[in-house]
Amino acid sequence: MNLSMILEMVANNGERAVATVGDRSLTAADLDTCARRLAARVRDSSAVLYLGTNHLAYPVALFGAALAGVPFVPLNYRLGEQQLSALLERHPGATILRQDDLVALIDDVPDDAEPAELEPQWDGDAIAAIIYTSGTTSDPKPAVLRHRHVIAYVLNTMEFASAEETDASLVSVPPYHIAGLTNLISNLYSGRRIVYLSAFEPATWLETVRREEVVHAMLVPTMLARIVAHLGGEVANVPTLATLAYGGSRTPRPVLEHALRAFPTTGFVNAYGLTETASSVAVLGPDDHREAIASDDPAVRDRLGSVGRPLPGIEIEIRTESDEPVATGETGLIFVRGEQISGEYGGRSVLDADGWFSTRDLGHLDADGYVYVEGRSDDTIIRGGENIAPAEIEDVLLAHPAIAEAAVIGVSDPEWGQRIVAVLVGDADPDEVRQWVKDRLRSSKTPDTIVFRHELPKTETGKLLRRTLLAELENQNA
Ligand code: ATP
Repeated sequence: MNLSMILEMVANNGERAVATVGDRSLTAADLDTCARRLAARVRDSSAVLYLGTNHLAYPVALFGAALAGVPFVPLNYRLGEQQLSALLERHPGATILRQDDLVALIDDVPDDAEPAELEPQWDGDAIAAIIYTSGTTSDPKPAVLRHRHVIAYVLNTMEFASAEETDASLVSVPPYHIAGLTNLISNLYSGRRIVYLSAFEPATWLETVRREEVVHAMLVPTMLARIVAHLGGEVANVPTLATLAYGGSRTPRPVLEHALRAFPTTGFVNAYGLTETASSVAVLGPDDHREAIASDDPAVRDRLGSVGRPLPGIEIEIRTESDEPVATGETGLIFVRGEQISGEYGGRSVLDADGWFSTRDLGHLDADGYVYVEGRSDDTIIRGGENIAPAEIEDVLLAHPAIAEAAVIGVSDPEWGQRIVAVLVGDADPDEVRQWVKDRLRSSKTPDTIVFRHELPKTETGKLLRRTLLAELENQNA
């Protein structure tokens, strides 16, 4: 199966609006016509590079590339000239599509236009997309996703995507992020109308949910935090919003608890995945959230801090660095296997002989199969021979009422190998903060140094750029 088949399915219901931006909508028939016209233009290219925001142009570019059998490569339109030209050099023979060119193509289609004659490509093994990873631990890696991987994702997440045809789904993750791509495809497949926000802002987001009667929305944790801060203690007045999915990085527990109170009638979905796994591989669904809030059992309440259970079709295993399985509850590396897992970078597969992919995330499974993600193994601090997960200390710091943001980093140290530096946004006394951590964690986890900043370096999806922060700290000898 291939994305061209999804377009064919969608086009059967031609008058239906498939995507909306502001006061403009694209019907299924227009999407089909524009994608075919574009496919005829790009069929000899090595790839289609999309430089644009969340816009009607985005599905046109994706399906145009799919019909032509050409890889789709969405790029960050905010990259500087230098970064952009370095990326463009990696794709010789590609067609660059800017949003404005595509808008002109959409505007140019006469009402009675016949779709261009074209033999669509159906190959499931062809490359559907190349998505650059977020680059939080190293330079962004070009993850290759074949049609069969994204189709497997769509089928594995069907349970969370059942929809009425009129349901609106608000997408505010950027188009060059894996979640932007998979959201677009599964929304189209399930018959939803996508409502795009080209720039995120909490008040606009809430207003759009109300105006468009949005039923489903997807966010990254920093957006959720901004919405919750915007609401203050108020309850959001969004009666149509049935599900709110969040993920892409860890959501601080205070933010989630605040959000659950602010959206009392909405079902929450935490989705965990990587670019290389065609997004979500584990999901904590609405019932899990509800059970956790209502339970007196601390083990069940703790599930609010988990990413749920593997999707159907996905297996998850926890192993030691030397590839041995670990016991339930013990921390190790998270491995995943399933048809949606690509694990391929430019022709090089990193899957092992049995098809397992190492996420390089640390985590554990509980007795009921819930997965807990404890951060990237590459971020582990080794202080005096002890392995320390920054996330645990960050959670404790974020629970402090005067701390808004926290990053815990291991900085080289001649005596300890690495020492713990906490970089904080907020206003608190460093000694008091150190005592706050000491009261809650083993003393070896108390930050050696505390630094205050106005902001932390992040990607546009709100991911902490630890390697940038580390370079800055090492430069300043912090
Ligand atoms: P790079 O691979 O370039 O260093 P990256 O790992 O941030 O960057 P992505 O593929 O965008 O690139 O992110 C995947 C990672 O994001 C996962 O390995 C995990 O650490 C984190 N993550 C994703 N979803 C969740 C979630 N729901 N909860 C906790 N962490 C998450």
